[in-house]
Amino acid sequence: MSREVVLVARPEGEPRESDFELREAVDREPETGEVAVRNVLVSVDPYMRGRMRGMRTYVGPYELGDTVDGAAVGRVVASRHEGFGEGDWVVSSLGWRERGVAAGERLRKLDPTIVPPSTALGVLGAPGFTAWWGLVSVGRVEAGETIYVSGAAGAVGSAAVQLAKLKGLRVIGSAGSTEKVEWLESLGVEAFDYRETPAKEALVDGIDVYFDNVGGAQLESALFALRPFGRVIACGSISRYNDAAPQPGPRNLAFIVSKRLRIEGFIILDHMARFGEFVGEVAPLVRAGSITYRETILDGIENVPRAFAGLFNGDNVGKMLVRVGPD
Ligand code: NDP
Repeated sequence: MSREVVLVARPEGEPRESDFELREAVDREPETGEVAVRNVLVSVDPYMRGRMRGMRTYVGPYELGDTVDGAAVGRVVASRHEGFGEGDWVVSSLGWRERGVAAGERLRKLDPTIVPPSTALGVLGAPGFTAWWGLVSVGRVEAGETIYVSGAAGAVGSAAVQLAKLKGLRVIGSAGSTEKVEWLESLGVEAFDYRETPAKEALVDGIDVYFDNVGGAQLESALFALRPFGRVIACGSISRYNDAAPQPGPRNLAFIVSKRLRIEGFIILDHMARFGEFVGEVAPLVRAGSITYRETILDGIENVPRAFAGLFNGDNVGKMLVRVGPD
């Protein structure tokens, strides 16, 4: 037997622990082509909130009674796939469970001697790839430009600010606490706490690119601050994810025309063919310490719902993870 976290109610507003239940499941052995994995770290991610609404967007919804699937790293405990052996570290989509079985094709083996396996959920996983793709392909940023990154101390944001610095940009970032602002400053970012300083004030000198993780009022402020031919890398709108109904949008959309702005959204899953290129470029930077990362790790599968809810209250510095088993 092992434990897993099941969605039992669709969250209204902020997700609550009562929207989830910890259940026991009977473990099964892998069949031909499958691998049994004991999870070590599971990821909680903002996009999961959208899947809990029960509507299909770019990915199907979680149904009530479903175990919440998502990214996780763990160790192989039994394999009937020639590519994997007992003890291997793998990244999977097994999600919020202590143990599971997956088709070998759906697993990626990790080498813990190169970088810590947890990085496959953060700086060298989907969040880091999102930052890299957003800057390179959507924003097409250039040295000498000024970029503003909201949610800058989160998993995507902290990778984005550092990659932008390395590419020669002037980087402004916002986050919701003094600790986060100090961390960003230590990375060479001109950082401010958006709860104390309105973004509109902090951006009076103008920006060329906005990496939007937050949406809402910050997007409106960025539209004011963008210079002609500026770009918005529309990555996420976490300030809106708990809204029961859509809120009125930025009041200054007329700037899109007058300043000839380009606003482009993207979903990183569409670009997995380029994942290898991203790892090839960024893994050496992480190994060399040119890109650093932080993780906020809660302990115990029973704390997964709390960790998830914490994303919407700024509880995490860097990537939010939950440890559900020993290495
Ligand atoms: P983070 O690690 O950034 O965690 C979420 C952070 O959002 C919190 O720590 C909090 O930091 C901030 N936040 C929460 N509520 C608000 C609010 N109302 N206003 C401003 N900030 C808020 O998460 P990720 O790095 O995983 O994701 C960041 C964004 O990127 C999300 O919008 C996500 O949906 C998006 N994303 C998009 C992808 C794509 O393919 N387009 C792929 C992956 C992520 P603080 O203390 O600073 O408030």
